[in-house]
Amino acid sequence: MNTYADFHRRSITDRDAFWAEQARRIDWQTLPEQVCDTSRPPFARWFVGGTTNLCHNAVDRHAATRPDDAALIWVSTEVGREVVYSFAQLQAEVQTLAAILQAQGVGEGDRVLIYMPMIPEAAFAMLACARIGAIHSVVFGGFASVSLASRIDDAAPKLIISADAGSRGGKVVPYKPLLDEAITLAAHKPHKVLMVDRGLAAFTVVSGRDLDYAALRAQHAGAQVPVVWLESNRISYTLYTSGTTGKPKGVQRDVGGYAVALATSMDYIFGGKPGETYFSTSDIGWVVGHSYIIYGPLIAGMATLMYEGLPVSPDAAIWWSLVEKYKVTVMFSAPTAVRVLKKHDPALLKRHDLSSLRALFLAGEPLDEPTGRWIAEALGVPIIDNYWQTETGWPLLTVAHHIPGVETVPTRFGSPGVPMYGYDVQLLDEQTGQPLTEPNQKGVLTIAHPLPPGCLQTVWGDDDRFVRTYWSSVPGQQVYSTFDWGLRDADGYTFILGRTDDVINVAGHRLGTREIEESISSHPAIAEVAVVGVADQLKGQVAIAFAVLRDPAQAGMALEGEVMKHVDGQLGAVARPARVHFVSLLPKTRSGKLLRRALQAVAEGRDPGDLTTLDDPSALAQVKELLGR
Ligand code: AMP
Repeated sequence: MNTYADFHRRSITDRDAFWAEQARRIDWQTLPEQVCDTSRPPFARWFVGGTTNLCHNAVDRHAATRPDDAALIWVSTEVGREVVYSFAQLQAEVQTLAAILQAQGVGEGDRVLIYMPMIPEAAFAMLACARIGAIHSVVFGGFASVSLASRIDDAAPKLIISADAGSRGGKVVPYKPLLDEAITLAAHKPHKVLMVDRGLAAFTVVSGRDLDYAALRAQHAGAQVPVVWLESNRISYTLYTSGTTGKPKGVQRDVGGYAVALATSMDYIFGGKPGETYFSTSDIGWVVGHSYIIYGPLIAGMATLMYEGLPVSPDAAIWWSLVEKYKVTVMFSAPTAVRVLKKHDPALLKRHDLSSLRALFLAGEPLDEPTGRWIAEALGVPIIDNYWQTETGWPLLTVAHHIPGVETVPTRFGSPGVPMYGYDVQLLDEQTGQPLTEPNQKGVLTIAHPLPPGCLQTVWGDDDRFVRTYWSSVPGQQVYSTFDWGLRDADGYTFILGRTDDVINVAGHRLGTREIEESISSHPAIAEVAVVGVADQLKGQVAIAFAVLRDPAQAGMALEGEVMKHVDGQLGAVARPARVHFVSLLPKTRSGKLLRRALQAVAEGRDPGDLTTLDDPSALAQVKELLGR
């Protein structure tokens, strides 16, 4: 047995041999000529010269050998439907949608924006784009018109695929009015909008622009659309994520590197096998949805369970009933969801036969020990915390239990684990940029060049931003910053201690405080605002706003509600602050920089630390008084 440390070391020191071996997991039309081109750091190009296709690897190759096996299982407790698509059926649906896209002039390199609820057509749409080399950009359905408009402008899609509505807790959530408003707001106008009409909400059809999916599906049924073989470094998709500026970044991914990285992770990390069922409770609007609802499980030849609904409806046993019914072997969720379930009767977990389940993976936010222990005891299977980001596309820190001939690293509560193969992780001193050599020192979690396959290639349309944002923040070193604080204990386990930037994490959703600030500032009553993330028992963090009014006499509950509604309308309810406090002054440095960190510390009842640069101490005193600290 080799140690995991040795295995990891080999993935770094013998990088090309390691990944050349992994590349055999997928089908290539033409084999790569070079494993990794590092000639233009910090960029990296994986499997140069190889041609492949994500849809072929996710669908066609399984449809060829196991056409009748389940591929996509769709369960909606919102509309009371369950549909199982075999690989052959999935292939047919994807080809039909690919034909629809091609008939609208969508081809290789064109962007297709997908703004959809958790319905099978969303999966068909992503795979159809991948099939014909179009670049998909999925926007989370919970985002509203202003968020959507900024993404439309950045991605400049030729076509948008959407639906009349989603449903949440039995309540219809119309999508089309938000989309129409976003298109009005955006400078870029898509040529066409393909509408899936679920019959949930009537909508206005814009003639000449809006297309009806059902009619076109009938017209193109049975279409044969060959996959377009793409050089490994062509773009598969972009996915927007929040950063420190108000403008979201389009995380851009390749084709071949992503396919190989996912295939390897499905085996080594998740231990998923063809013919089994994988259940991720995420949403296709997030990176977990891309990697582990759609591409990862399908590439591995598993059936993927796509769920539309709440974890507690019709009752808190719904997920476990699905595990039993579809014999789920691997499940992926987020700590927040577990904290929600924890409030319900634990007997609900025992009601179902969960013997198929081998492990539950949790990611997206820190897994607190009580939550981890509760679910571990309730399920009786390993709970695997895993840490990663939209940018990395697959886990960076976790424990991989399925590497043949390699010793298993035991899990440790509070830590997601150790660096995964391929990631040359370093903890660096924030001030000096030097590696931290002693255990238990807090530093910035960074990755040395090159990032392994599957990680972002660049920021869509902005190489300069990619370099400036991710590779230039540590003094004297060109390393990738995760913008997370980390600490390594004496046994090599890494602990995540929060973000180094102004990004917050609400119920596993990553939000930029600047985006929320920009939205609140656009309300006519607001002169200035600061938004910080404050610790919350259920959601991990919530956004709290401190706003200065143009007319202080307007302060009150009514205005607070109005500001929240304003954010709902612009960004979506996910970004709504939990409270909006009205203050007369915000804490700033003498040079006018907002001291968000001090504000956050005070809001959490902590010591705000060094305040020598604070211009007017009364700003913090006011917040303390307001919150009764
Ligand atoms: P996202 O890009 O939305 O996936 O958010 C990524 C961020 O979520 C990371 O940079 C971390 O701050 C946080 N995060 C994700 N997974 C974990 C985890 N297992 N433990 C602690 N923080 C996590």
